[in-house]
Formats: sequence, structure tokens, C-alpha cells
Amino acid sequence: MSAPNTEGKTSGAGALLKVAGLGAGYGGMPVLSDVSLAVSKAEIVALVGGNGAGKTTLLRALSRVIGSTGAIAFSGRDIAPMTPDEAFAAGLVHVPEGRQLFDRMSVEDNLLMGAYRRDDDQAVGRDLERMYGLFPRLGERRRQLAGSLSGGEQQMCAMARGLMAAPVLLMIDEMSLGLAPVVVEQLMEVLGAIRAQGVTILLVEQDVHLALSVADRGYVMESGRIVHQGAAKDLIDDPAVRRAYLGL
Ligand code: ATP
Repeated sequence: MSAPNTEGKTSGAGALLKVAGLGAGYGGMPVLSDVSLAVSKAEIVALVGGNGAGKTTLLRALSRVIGSTGAIAFSGRDIAPMTPDEAFAAGLVHVPEGRQLFDRMSVEDNLLMGAYRRDDDQAVGRDLERMYGLFPRLGERRRQLAGSLSGGEQQMCAMARGLMAAPVLLMIDEMSLGLAPVVVEQLMEVLGAIRAQGVTILLVEQDVHLALSVADRGYVMESGRIVHQGAAKDLIDDPAVRRAYLGL
């Protein structure tokens, strides 16, 4: 097992997101059981595990796209009764696997879609420029249709669209999937910049090593349960994690 967590912030006390005993599934078939985790403000937390472990299902439950049992507190509020729109408005923003952009809309219009709930036009305009600062490729392609972007540019566009919602917690599902290592490296650098701007990040990845190399802490999920947790550097050194997930 991983080293026990002794840091106060990992116990969930004062956490931005605190999940306790969560269960969820599809059509009566359980997928997640007794999932507990906590994310503190300005942390990057990795949620890793193999194919079908339940990572996406957990993100769907957190963004209230599917129902769940157990407790979910976000910014001190119980979000379990919220609709997806209400959870989004509370600052819980999900960048989905596969990017799910509006292919026939321009990059800029996709980014503006992320801000659809905001009425602070000037701040939205400033955030748009901030996105082009974070992702200069998007600035160069702001009038291009999103469907004609490369895979890496589409991932940038999806992340920037999520950021345009002014999230408190950005949950990114499979950021690196199908992308060239050089692009993934650029995106990892951007994660650091996003966190430096005060956004907390929950990073869901099948690429365990990649996610743990950028995260502060991590949770390893297997068959719908959390099986290891701890500081990312401890998880990378954990013999069980190394054997099962790092091929070492
Ligand atoms: P991957 O990285 O492959 O996406 P994951 O860890 O994100 O894996 P989930 O997508 O959460 O895993 O899937 C967990 C389980 O839930 C799988 O057995 C999957 O078949 C099942 N599942 C996912 N979506 C649905 C759905 N819409 N209806 C029924 N079962 C589903």
C-alpha cells in the first residue's frame, strides 16, 4: 500500500472538493463504490488508473451529469442535489475526453461558448486575450474552424474553453490521449501556468507516469475504487504502483 497521508490537506479538512463514500453507475449497474477523495485549493491532483477503472464516471458524477450516492461538498456547499448547469455555475468545470468541440464554429466562438453564463463582457474579453497568451497557437488560429485544428490544438481549445468559464476547479479528462509527446509537454507547462493563476486542477489520465509527474498528489483507481493515494512522488516510488501501472 501507499504511504499513509499525514498532511492535513489530504484529510479533506478545509478542502475545496471533498467526496465521501460516493457510489455511481449506469442503469442500476454500479461502477463506483465508496470513493472518497479531497482536493485542496491550488493543488494539481491526478486521478489515474487503467481502462474502464471508472475515472470518467467519477468526473460525470462530480459534474452532476449522472446521479450518485454519498456526499460531495464543493467550496463548502453540498452539490449532490445540483443540476450540471448549477455545478458548472458554482465553478466545477469538466473538460471532457475527446474534446467535444463545436467543429463548425471558429476557435474564438468555441472559447466564447465557455463563457456563455458570464455577463461581464469586459472581463470575458480580457480572458479571451489571456487564453491567446496561454495558447499562442489558438490566437493565430482564432478564426479557423475548430474541426480543422490538429489534435493538440483541439485539446488546447477544449482547455481554453473550460477556462473561459472562470472555473474554480478544472477537471480535465485524458488530456494527453493521442497526442505527440512534444505537444503533451507544452500542455503540461500550461497546467502549471493555470494553477499559478489560481485554478485548482483534477487531472484524469490513463498515462499514470505523466499525470503523477505534474501532480502534487494522486489517487489510483481500480474497478471503481480508490486503491492507492498519496503524494505524487510517493506514488511514483510505490512498488505496487510501479509494478501495476508503470511497467517497472
Ligand atoms: P477510460 O480511460 O477507458 O475512459 P475510465 O476509467 O474513464 O476508462 P469509465 O469510462 O468511467 O472508465 O468506465 C467505467 C465502467 O463504466 C466501464 O465498465 C464502462 O463500460 C462503464 N460505462 C461507462 N459509460 C457507460 C454508459 N454510458 N453506460 C453504461 N456503462 C458505462
